[in-house]
Amino acid sequence: MCGIVGYIGPREAYPIIIEGLKRLEYRGYDSAGVALFDGTDLKVSKTKGKVADLEKRSEQEITKHGSVGIGHTRWATHGVPNDVNSHPHISNSGDLVIIHNGIIENYESLKQELISRGYTFKSDTDTEVLINLIEDVKKQEKVKLGKAVQIALNQVVGAYAIAVFDKNKPEEVVIARLGSPLAVGIGEDEFFIASDASPFIEYTKDAIYLEDEEMAIIRFHKGIKIRKIKDDSLVDPYVQKLQMNLEEIEKGGFDHFMLKEIYEQPKAITDTYRGRLLREEAIIKMAGIEDNMKKFLNADRIIIVACGTSWHAGLVAEYIFEDLARIPVEVEYASEFRYRNPIITEKDVLIAISQSGETADTLAAIKLAKSKGAFVFGVCNVVGSSIARETHAGAYTHAGPEIGVASTKAFTTQITVLTLMALRLARAKGTISSSDFRRHLLELEMIPQKVEESLKSDAHIKMISDIYKDVGNFLYLGRGYNFPVALEGALKLKEISYIHAEGYPAAEMKHGPIALIDENMPIVVIATRKGHYEKIVSNIQEIKSRKGKIIGIVTKGDVQVKELADHVIEIPETFELLSPLLTTIPLQLLSYHIAVLLDKNVDQPRNLAKSVTVE
Ligand code: GLU
Repeated sequence: MCGIVGYIGPREAYPIIIEGLKRLEYRGYDSAGVALFDGTDLKVSKTKGKVADLEKRSEQEITKHGSVGIGHTRWATHGVPNDVNSHPHISNSGDLVIIHNGIIENYESLKQELISRGYTFKSDTDTEVLINLIEDVKKQEKVKLGKAVQIALNQVVGAYAIAVFDKNKPEEVVIARLGSPLAVGIGEDEFFIASDASPFIEYTKDAIYLEDEEMAIIRFHKGIKIRKIKDDSLVDPYVQKLQMNLEEIEKGGFDHFMLKEIYEQPKAITDTYRGRLLREEAIIKMAGIEDNMKKFLNADRIIIVACGTSWHAGLVAEYIFEDLARIPVEVEYASEFRYRNPIITEKDVLIAISQSGETADTLAAIKLAKSKGAFVFGVCNVVGSSIARETHAGAYTHAGPEIGVASTKAFTTQITVLTLMALRLARAKGTISSSDFRRHLLELEMIPQKVEESLKSDAHIKMISDIYKDVGNFLYLGRGYNFPVALEGALKLKEISYIHAEGYPAAEMKHGPIALIDENMPIVVIATRKGHYEKIVSNIQEIKSRKGKIIGIVTKGDVQVKELADHVIEIPETFELLSPLLTTIPLQLLSYHIAVLLDKNVDQPRNLAKSVTVE
């Protein structure tokens, strides 16, 4: 995982690379570096830390001049984050320079081989092995850089997105991808290279997304040539028109991307159902479902695979699908699913959920399911992402770019898409009456307004956050549809405030976690009026008897929980099935405020990266 940026053209490359790296910092931020060709020589500056640290460092180290350059923001996989392990890496001769996103799995054996031939290594990275392998091939085989990259990559096992150039031939940059994303922005006689399109959105709307096992040679004044890495065949470049605009990837007056994205949810949810939920006609239109209706209706079961927050959305979907459409659903962590020996048949439908559409484990699970003949449906946010391409059909969430590392609007829009799917299938199967179906459409359409109302508790939640910010542990409890929300609430808190938190089904509390409760333990209980209300009230009584501090998420106008809880946060009334779209809002705000009050880096929490493109 990491962010890659490159430029080749008439402009100064440095500011484009630095600004681009800042936009890609969500992908990794433990070190950063840049390499420029300044007209006579290669200039490299790199450092442990953030892109801001790189800016300070390069101020002193290099002239920052040059119209060919590459830059990297790292999320270390091999070797601790320090200056030496930072990218770019240079080959032994000092001629070739590389940035890399991914993992070279067989780097150790390649390294030993290179050492036996006299190569030396400064860093602990797999990447430095790759650039020396390319150099070795180039020398041994007496081939040009592009060919050397191709031959070397055919010896490599693992995943990569790379950009390489030779200081003796700086008008040419070679890029390649397998498993990690790579986009090329096509300007007028200039090219931008990046892990996603955000670094070049203000320069061009024309982009080529490299496919897996493709490489490209980009030459100043001469254009781009794409080839298959394996068999060298030429590929016709497919230039896409980007829909994204600059405002979408800026903070727009908010202190953090996370807060902006929390507040964007009413719009994001509306964008998700726009054109799909047609209330007046009482239909749901989703091309990916219509075209494959038989697959869904004949399925023995649905298997949902995902990681992290998307997995929680999958758990909510399990309840919704089984409840509405009466199709058996299993939800699996993609990382577990792919490595065990799961039973998958042609009568299974696999739904893969991923915000970025690049999650490595989810991609691998998709490939496994496809190889067994299952029909695979993708739910992702990033248009044109690997998962969107790898699946048979799918539905985008249309949430707009999510940049905060802690996922917020991705979660609610995933639930929205999955709810639409379940409703559509239920209608086709006849497991929902037409009047119930209409009622659900109407209520779903009201959700954005109700999210808006839920956001009004922001100041109250900030006050509660201040009271509990210094505790060491939190417990989150929910039942039914809101059990996965409890898991998600706990994950949010862990991710950005580094406070230990656990989510539990409220009734399970008695089987263990109750032992943790004392007067210092805050317990967030989702206790909305619809769905097991009386049972939850009993659970709250049990906590109360053990002096735990209760923060209740309740339906507007609630009386019973209000009497028992230390604090309550109200949300508007809705159907139980749709309540996760509202109950999750206060939990997002709670984790946000606690992290800000603790002075944590909300948008770039330690050790994390936005899209996990490595296993
Ligand atoms: N494996 C490389 C490293 O550890 C690249 C990691 C990344 O994708 O940032 O340096």
